[in-house]
Amino acid sequence: MVRLYDDRKRILVTGGAGFVGSHLIDRLLEQGHEVLCVDNLFTGSKRNIEHLHNHPRLEFQRHDVCLPLYVEVDEIYNLACPASPIHYQHDPVQTTKTSVHGAINMLGLAKRVKAKIFQASTSEVYGDPAVHPQPEEYWGNVNPIGTRSCYDEGKRCAETLFFDYHRQHGLDIKVARIFNTYGPRMHPADGRVVSNFIVQALSGEPITIYGDGAQTRSFCYVDDLVAGIITMMETGPDITGPINLGNPIEFTMIELAELVLQLTGSRSELIRLPLPADDPRQRKPDIAKARDILGWQPSVALADGLKSTIDYFAHRVR
Ligand code: NAD
Ligand code: UDP
Ligand code: UDP
Repeated sequence: MVRLYDDRKRILVTGGAGFVGSHLIDRLLEQGHEVLCVDNLFTGSKRNIEHLHNHPRLEFQRHDVCLPLYVEVDEIYNLACPASPIHYQHDPVQTTKTSVHGAINMLGLAKRVKAKIFQASTSEVYGDPAVHPQPEEYWGNVNPIGTRSCYDEGKRCAETLFFDYHRQHGLDIKVARIFNTYGPRMHPADGRVVSNFIVQALSGEPITIYGDGAQTRSFCYVDDLVAGIITMMETGPDITGPINLGNPIEFTMIELAELVLQLTGSRSELIRLPLPADDPRQRKPDIAKARDILGWQPSVALADGLKSTIDYFAHRVR
């Protein structure tokens, strides 16, 4: 759909060359908007948006959100931040800076140009949760000095900044707490469980189960997530969140490994490796708010989403 100039929005997506950001940009362009993708290419890649090369409504700017950014936009989706443990622990100080300084700069920008602003927060704000499933009212159980803290506490501080800019300066904010998401364009070497298992299964290498494999996660397909993000951005100023976005169907890592083996037809064996520090035992979103307020819930079954993801990796691994 190409919109008329008067209802076409100019939208900034930070982290737009990453996994989630690139799918979000696809959808926003399909809706007829103009998109400015700002990314420092730390974990993202121009390859994720190369199919949009020369798109007349997409502009790319290589920039670090820790530095001020002066542009004129109607909406801001703030996704810039490495998301996988391997990447965010590579330079933990930079990770905290990206979340905190990045939020300050994007909020300052939103304040100046009076733009609506969305924050990609995370289920990690709940830490290793003592409440299951996690509703938005739960304050979390986060280790402030552990190896995951740069990400968890950075994202928690970003939420604080969003709500203070909302209360103090009247900004129209949307904070979503995103749970584990997977799909095409995940980084093959980011160490996340879905990409690891698929790459291992496709290359016939052992599937690495950390710990006993009984820990749980719930996996949301990226198209479902992007639909939830955009729906949230379209709400009126009284809706700030935080709202959980994720798929509430829970799987153990053993169950995930077995499904990947079945869908790939691989004969890889399962091997056990030590459980990483502070690895949450279980995680599953309570999405009652997303259902009630946004009328949103995921619709892609894990087996279907895995098939598309396996197709994507099959072209890269073999
Ligand atoms: P990703 O690593 O693929 O994308 C992040 C993007 O941000 C990359 O393109 C990276 O180059 C860019 N970036 C990093 N630091 C930057 C900086 N200082 N300045 C500018 N750009 C920078 O990760 P993703 O999975 O697409 O995650 C996107 C967002 O969603 C992140 O904020 C993440 O915390 C959040 N999130 C993702 C998940 C998930 O399961 N994928 C879950 C919860 C939250
Ligand atoms: N900022 C930005 N782009 C803008 C406006 C502000 O990057 O268009 C940055 C600016 O560098 C500042 C931060 O956002 O450090 C916070 O802005 P705010 O106006 O809230 O605070 P102040 O400038 O008063 O410190
Ligand atoms: N995991 C695993 N094998 C792997 C990678 C991860 O068993 O090769 C486990 C990991 O210990 C965690 C779960 O899978 O319990 C999800 O890990 P991921 O890094 O994908 O996400 P997060 O821990 O951030 O939810």
